[in-house]
Amino acid sequence: MKLLIIEDEASLSQMMQRALQEAGFVVETARTCAEAEEKIDLYEYDCVLLDLMLPDGDGFTLLRRLSELGRAERVIITSAKGSVEDKVKGLDLGADDYLPKPFHLSELVARVRSLVRRGNKGAKTIEVGNVSLNPDDRSATVAGRTLNLLHKEYHILYYFLTRPGRVVDKQSLAEAVWGDHADQSDNFNYVYQQVANLKRKLRDAGATIQIQAVYGFGYKLTEN
Ligand code: CA
Repeated sequence: MKLLIIEDEASLSQMMQRALQEAGFVVETARTCAEAEEKIDLYEYDCVLLDLMLPDGDGFTLLRRLSELGRAERVIITSAKGSVEDKVKGLDLGADDYLPKPFHLSELVARVRSLVRRGNKGAKTIEVGNVSLNPDDRSATVAGRTLNLLHKEYHILYYFLTRPGRVVDKQSLAEAVWGDHADQSDNFNYVYQQVANLKRKLRDAGATIQIQAVYGFGYKLTEN
């Protein structure tokens, strides 16, 4: 079971991490919205612990992002903003639980255990045009017919389907699909190749969406 703690207060984050690791969880941490967004784009978690007041923005933005992406992660908001409005807003935006600060670490562990026991929410199917993608079993269909995709092609399609109409630069796409450790020039050639394969598969299957090149920048997903 893998958890992500999003918390900018270093000492608190460390204490939470230690307690949850001792309880048997694999724990990663992020200290800013930007860092959290990067991790969420790259990895999947069983549960996310979300602080609302972060140095570069508020946690509600991340909650919206998770929901936009149709993600299955359970979310517990941990916040000193104890107002009823914040709690209601958080739950409305898809959070599963709200733990006001300060809290006891034993209570945190208990809440995480109880949520994780319920299992994940089941990721939402993502649909654009006649293309639909099911993150639960990583399958894709065009007009109801299975589209056979390789692992990386699936991830590229997921990346575009969750950003329809937005221009995606090659660097971001490469990082999201391959991670940021690979050599860049190799990466870009690989991106071209994989995107070309995916475009061909979509076209052959009669998809009503297409990945268009945006000269000098990257790509954009458009609907016919
Ligand atoms: Ca904070």
